[in-house]
Amino acid sequence: MKKHNFNSGPSVLPQEVLEQASKAILNFNGIGLSILEIGHRSTWFVDVIEEAKSLVRELMNIGDEYEVLFLQGGATTQFMQVPMNLLDASETASYCDDGVWGSKAAKEAALFGNVHIAASSKDKKYTYINKNFDVPATSKYLHITTNNTVEGTQWQSFPNVSMPLIGDMSSDIFSREIDFKKFDLIYAGAQKNMGAAGVNLVVLKKDLLGKIERKIPTILDYKNHIEANSLLNTPPVFAIYVSLLTLRWIKQEGGLKEMEKRSIEKANLLYSTIDSLPIFNCPIAKEDRSNMNAVFFIEDENLQTEFLDLCKENGMIGVKGYRTVGGIRVSMYNALELSSVKAFCDLMRDFASKN
Ligand SMILES: *Cc1c(COP(=O)(O)O)cnc(C)c1O
Repeated sequence: MKKHNFNSGPSVLPQEVLEQASKAILNFNGIGLSILEIGHRSTWFVDVIEEAKSLVRELMNIGDEYEVLFLQGGATTQFMQVPMNLLDASETASYCDDGVWGSKAAKEAALFGNVHIAASSKDKKYTYINKNFDVPATSKYLHITTNNTVEGTQWQSFPNVSMPLIGDMSSDIFSREIDFKKFDLIYAGAQKNMGAAGVNLVVLKKDLLGKIERKIPTILDYKNHIEANSLLNTPPVFAIYVSLLTLRWIKQEGGLKEMEKRSIEKANLLYSTIDSLPIFNCPIAKEDRSNMNAVFFIEDENLQTEFLDLCKENGMIGVKGYRTVGGIRVSMYNALELSSVKAFCDLMRDFASKN
């Protein structure tokens, strides 16, 4: 049976990306060696990095004031690498606390300087984005999570602030046309919407750097990675290659405009189905609902378990909610086809009619 992959991350990738990646494991670009066997400083691999960087620039429509890096340690490492590079011990950074990932980021920043929580939606179990934030003018930067993967909320437009804006875009990177230039630093673990686990995209304005007193370990200093063109040490060669293939696929399919169109179509279908069936309840504020991760519930726990079992039997993978949230979570990243959402909605309707 065809599996419908609603995993929250690592998650569904385009079929052709998987095929090209498997070919490259056996014979990369016909050179008679595997992508896993070539040196990271070989021109073969330098070409991979260069093309991936230039596709990132093209898709984001950003200029030379930005640097594009491929780093390791996942988005979680950025929770500490950002403040380590940008925030002195005597300074304050502001964080929007709209979910578990944002609050983890704030917790790490507090190891390096003062943290001001500019807004929080914890009062309503993170079921909305609190846009009523206050950011002291002296804040070194404001950090937001553009899509809250766990809770199912997403910023639909971005705040205008006088200090640098930093975005954790791990779960909605390249899913929509946005003005990336509003951000001074963007980071994203690749495994949700742009490739395989093991690499982290970091896009930052060079002029953010060199403004603190702290000594930074060599491998954690953005400046060193910029100077070394993401080749400071051995990078995650294969994960970067899968990102390149995914970036090519996004461009070839019609770029971010097309990704956004598809994503709106999938999300509209799912949310309208949820809203039309009283057995399902989505507690997320309508204006803040995520087009990437839909989180909803069946009130009766036994029925919910029954529904989740039914999903499994029907090849619908990864729809159990995050451990701290519970319920149902359907992730609809770029590579998820509309037909999978249709199949899921059919199952929901069928279940609702029987219960
Ligand atoms: C998944 C996720 C993370 C953590 O990513 P890792 O690569 O596992 O460290 C951080 N932020 C957001 C928004 C996420 O969705």
